[in-house]
Amino acid sequence: MDMDAPEILVAGGGIGGLAAALALSRQGARVELIEQAPAFAEVGAGIQIGPNVTRILREWGLESEMRRVASFPDGLRARDARSGRELGHLPLGERAERLYGAPYACIHRADLHQLLLQAVQARGVPLHLNQRLAEVQPSEGQVQVRTEQELSRSPTLLVGADGLWSRSRQALGLNEPPRFSGHLAYRGLVPLAQPAAERQVTVWMGPRLHIVQYPVQAGRALNLVAIVHGELPANPQDWDHAAHAAHLFQALGPISRPLRQTLEAVPAWRLWALNDRPPLTSAAQMGQGAVALLGDAAHPMRPYLAQGAGMAIEDAWVLARCWSEKGSLAERVQRYAALRWPRNAQVQARAIRNGRIFHAHGPVSWGRNLAMGVLGAKVMDVPWLYKGLDSGSIPE
Ligand SMILES: Cc1cc2nc3c(=O)[nH]c(=O)nc-3n(C[C@H](O)[C@H](O)[C@H](O)COP(=O)(O)OP(=O)(O)OC[C@H]3O[C@@H](n4cnc5c(N)ncnc54)[C@H](O)[C@@H]3O)c2cc1C
Repeated sequence: MDMDAPEILVAGGGIGGLAAALALSRQGARVELIEQAPAFAEVGAGIQIGPNVTRILREWGLESEMRRVASFPDGLRARDARSGRELGHLPLGERAERLYGAPYACIHRADLHQLLLQAVQARGVPLHLNQRLAEVQPSEGQVQVRTEQELSRSPTLLVGADGLWSRSRQALGLNEPPRFSGHLAYRGLVPLAQPAAERQVTVWMGPRLHIVQYPVQAGRALNLVAIVHGELPANPQDWDHAAHAAHLFQALGPISRPLRQTLEAVPAWRLWALNDRPPLTSAAQMGQGAVALLGDAAHPMRPYLAQGAGMAIEDAWVLARCWSEKGSLAERVQRYAALRWPRNAQVQARAIRNGRIFHAHGPVSWGRNLAMGVLGAKVMDVPWLYKGLDSGSIPE
């Protein structure tokens, strides 16, 4: 046996791939990672990470660094995008920590990515940039992997963390392309001279639109995402553009003055098309034999439950647990896939449903507003999600 060969090759160095490399190397596996890009980088936008995710970062020893760069909202506020009226409020902050044992955080993607990258580098995991996965051939006891740049490896396990347009999926016979959701996301970041006074996630809801705002970078910037309905772009694989504020305001139509003022402060917008896949229906879509999929490669979702990266991190945590258990490789991969697909499917479905609720108009929006006003936290909280996974949930 070649002791220099990796036992595990991770394809993709996004948040999911780095989380997998970290979790698996913490279990003692010999891991290598390939990334197609010439440098590790993440887009300039924020993400929310629930207690189900910050708990895992804590277990990986990343909590103090996360606390240095993240923001911790006191609550989540729903507002009507047209009138500006508050529709409902969910306290987070101390309540989330008390109920779920870990904080609710908002973090710049680059900061989370950097945190994971440093942890992976500190463990000495070999990282190969400029290597684009081209061929995957599962064979007896290993997988033959080759990149377009002629790097070849024969790991025991390939972890496909290569995102929305995953090449690894094809090794499982999954050849369907992702689907366009009909929604476009405008994203922007407003630098703040003073740390944000308002420590809230605010979701502005309106017919066929919603806008989410929250502080990131320890309150030194405000992250904004505006979602509107729009046309399928000509080349969705290459669709992250500088965008015109005028187009956004046209798509939004009439909005309340405070919302307009907040959006007008964004110095530059980027626009991209939101794609997803239908919720998973079987374990075989997450892993078989010597190939395990993770994150967007397996279950790209609409961002309306703010959990795409969160589920990738949960996948990584569970995969590492399964890797270290007894059984053949195929059994361990099967166990991982069986544990992960129902939760990911549930999150994918709930995200689609949230989009419908956020974008509702007419009687459906009246019902939504009434429910949020009367029941508040009861309809806005997601305990089954934030309670996360405990080791007890992994059956023997
Ligand atoms: C508008 C918006 C808001 C969001 N908000 C949130 C949020 O609040 N909370 C949250 O948890 N999630 C959020 N998400 C989702 C989250 O961004 C993704 O789910 C997450 O980044 C997926 O990570 P990943 O590592 O699986 O995939 P990716 O980030 O896509 O990483 C895949 C990596 O693989 C590389 N790669 C691709 N193909 C190959 C190949 N053939 N060979 C080698 N390398 C390859 C890519 O270059 C990339 O680095 C949001 C998404 C959007 C669009």
